[in-house]
Amino acid sequence: MTLPAPTSQRNWTPDSPDSFILRGTAAGGTLRLVATDSTSITEEARLRHRLSKTATAALGRSLSAALLLAVVLGKKPDSRVTLRVQGDGPLGWIVAEGAADGQVRGYVRDPAADLPIRELDGKLDVSGVVGSVGEIAVTRLLDNAEPYTGSVPLVSGEIAEDVAHYLSASEQIPSAVLLGVYEEGGRVSRSGGLLVQAMPGVSDETLSRLEANIRAMGPITDNLRVRTLLEVMQLAADGLDLQVVAQAQAARFQCRCSRQKAKNSLLYFGMQERQEMMQEGGQEVVCHWCNEHYQITPDEIAALDDPDDQPRGQA
Ligand SMILES: [Zn+2]
Repeated sequence: MTLPAPTSQRNWTPDSPDSFILRGTAAGGTLRLVATDSTSITEEARLRHRLSKTATAALGRSLSAALLLAVVLGKKPDSRVTLRVQGDGPLGWIVAEGAADGQVRGYVRDPAADLPIRELDGKLDVSGVVGSVGEIAVTRLLDNAEPYTGSVPLVSGEIAEDVAHYLSASEQIPSAVLLGVYEEGGRVSRSGGLLVQAMPGVSDETLSRLEANIRAMGPITDNLRVRTLLEVMQLAADGLDLQVVAQAQAARFQCRCSRQKAKNSLLYFGMQERQEMMQEGGQEVVCHWCNEHYQITPDEIAALDDPDDQPRGQA
């Protein structure tokens, strides 16, 4: 397998395929910027789920969005945010879960769903495959607290606009969200996103300048093709005194599944069903988040009942 990105266009750990997150502020702290280069994340998602071209773009944008939302909404490094996009298109739904520490995972209902390139602008038809009627829901999973979910109707199915609408309508966080995935030669060449959040006290002049900058940039995907992530941030905050936090943060596609969790999931089945699994030579358990296939052997299934495997000393 080749590395997932043209390294000359990346501005962090140029010898590594890792994805990363950059943060900054502008206009005296009245704008907060969070950006991610998620190229290796989206490529791994494409390979793991055997995603079609359009499904790759839809899930890649959602994975970037989940990372950006986790940074913006998460209070602690392990705070997680789950983004669910449920549209009426052939993709079915998208689920992406990000953590503020840079771990993200996700899947779609129908990874093979695809549509021809859009005639209108020559771009992948993400809104066509997602659907423009439906809902976007965001759940915050916080330690020692009840999960909090907010949702709004989809506005376009292009993901970025929908996330921005969610943030302003449900979280009262006015923001601009840009998400893009560029595929070339059958793989992900560049994937990334930028979220600019307007903080209390932001001036009208700052907002006008930000809007003009983003308009002048053109499509984010075109920018990601030729610019580093830092350059994209600089363009968005042109003339607004961007201050970038020096340390980039590593990000990666990382599932929370394990062989042990896969084995334990078989405990939901009754003894007789597990006996049948053993007689049939074992049982395959598939993680829907990352499409990892765990082949659980008859011996492992038998061991689930093995008293040696259980804590002792309790009646
Ligand atoms: Zn998994």
